[in-house]
Amino acid sequence: MTRPEVGASPRPCAECGDSEYGGAPACTACRALVDGIVEDEWAGFLRRWDVGDDQETALAEMVAAEPDRHDWRVVDAALDRLVCADCGDRLGRGPVGCPACDRAHGFRYAAIETDRPGVPRGNEHAVRVNVSVVRRPHVTSAGELLVRRLLLPVLLVGFLPTTEEAQRMSALIRRSPPAQRIPLAERMIEEAMALRRAGHRPPGRDRR
Ligand SMILES: [Zn+2]
Ligand SMILES: [Zn+2]
Repeated sequence: MTRPEVGASPRPCAECGDSEYGGAPACTACRALVDGIVEDEWAGFLRRWDVGDDQETALAEMVAAEPDRHDWRVVDAALDRLVCADCGDRLGRGPVGCPACDRAHGFRYAAIETDRPGVPRGNEHAVRVNVSVVRRPHVTSAGELLVRRLLLPVLLVGFLPTTEEAQRMSALIRRSPPAQRIPLAERMIEEAMALRRAGHRPPGRDRR
């Protein structure tokens, strides 16, 4: 299972009908794909270090202690392998307000994010934020989670909304009745992508 290529078209998920990766966390097939983004990198990391099962936790502890030295997927996978001393959940994924989880979750953003060739600068950061939100859905509002999960399939193929587009999308979704949110978000994403395809360069793009 590999990540979609830059420039590919998102494919429909056989299970939920949304684009692949976009149905998480509710769709188990999409959730497995999203987890795979993180797990594939961890598997490669273990191979490089030639680490056996018995040493995996020790390696995870080492990574979690120095998140700024590792790729974000390795850091997220490492946190999944550690248990929070405060709440007993996977470290960084416990309930809202667990101090140790909040701290670990904050530190995960120190990790290395490397843009793939051919994507707008900051695409990998957007991918990692959206993956993180979708894998930790209980700390995000329903509207924001919806925007994040629907954006993920297009981020993975190299699209990046401007900060203004992303904020407008979130604000509109927040104000819309739940039944209208999905078609509205899908239309806004499609419009932004069509603008980019037409060669429109967003003004004043910033990194995040
Ligand atoms: Zn799905
Ligand atoms: Zn915790």
